Amino acid sequence: PRSHIGYIEEDFLAQLAEEARTKFGVGKVADYIPALAEVEPDQFGMAICHRDGRVQSCGDALVPFSIQSISKVISLVIAMRHADEFGLWQRLRQEPSGMPFSSLIQLEREEGIPRNPFVNAGALVIVDILVEKIFLILHHMREFVREHSGNRSINYDARVAESELRNTSRNAAIAHLIKSFGNIHGDVNRVLEVYCHFCALGMNCVDLARLFSFLASAGHSPISSQQLLSADQAREVNGMMLTCGLYDASGSYAAQVGLPAKSGVGGGIVAVLPGEFTVCAWSPRLDANGNSVGARWALEKLVDYLGRSPLG
Ligand code: GLN
Repeated sequence: PRSHIGYIEEDFLAQLAEEARTKFGVGKVADYIPALAEVEPDQFGMAICHRDGRVQSCGDALVPFSIQSISKVISLVIAMRHADEFGLWQRLRQEPSGMPFSSLIQLEREEGIPRNPFVNAGALVIVDILVEKIFLILHHMREFVREHSGNRSINYDARVAESELRNTSRNAAIAHLIKSFGNIHGDVNRVLEVYCHFCALGMNCVDLARLFSFLASAGHSPISSQQLLSADQAREVNGMMLTCGLYDASGSYAAQVGLPAKSGVGGGIVAVLPGEFTVCAWSPRLDANGNSVGARWALEKLVDYLGRSPLG
């Protein structure tokens, strides 16, 4: 394995951004949220934030995109900071679903208890908890990402949020089914509104690599110099990302890449090499599971380059 502590060869990154262009054309952008269908598909960027907060990047790493399901990690982290953890894991589980992210099937069988916080059902329960616990939750969320990524200009993309809210029957069905089992306490429409706004945060690869750098550093953010989670909690989040972060592709991703990761239908994937760095790769075209083709390819290349992952 290469010793790269503190840096990755700039040549490797430049080459990666160049080679990523050959993947352009494979897969297609999410179009079930109309505003996402308008994104220019042939883009690729990647940013790595090392333990000391230093960032390396290539390609379109500064182009903002819709973070979509990557927001599910942020909501979970805020819930772990503010809610009683025992209570939290009574309301959802920590098991891979083996199902698409917007599936309803297990919910009925399992009486409204979602499999994990990274499928839509689980994220909706987490949002319900946050709405109940935190005053002005949309403001709180935005401040959290701004402060811990060091970028004060991050904001919700109102167009994307409204576009999704108008086309969110599936999430409404999930939320109502959960509510029928008593596992959503608040108003379903409010939960959906907050959830769609979280998904519509616009951030770039550098912002996301910096924001999630605490997951590579036992819960301590080198960007804000704050302990965001305990080391145990950070390990717990990484474990859920490794087993559940890419929906029904989580298993093959863990086998082939082996880094805890979370994807979103905006084309971003955030991944963690604990003890070393957090990386965000982005390219809008998706495979059949809703994971970015280019970003997954780039993370595979990165692990090849390093010659190891947390799994060996
Ligand atoms: N906002 C999207 C949805 O609820 C998020 C899905 C995703 O990124 N996988 O359908």
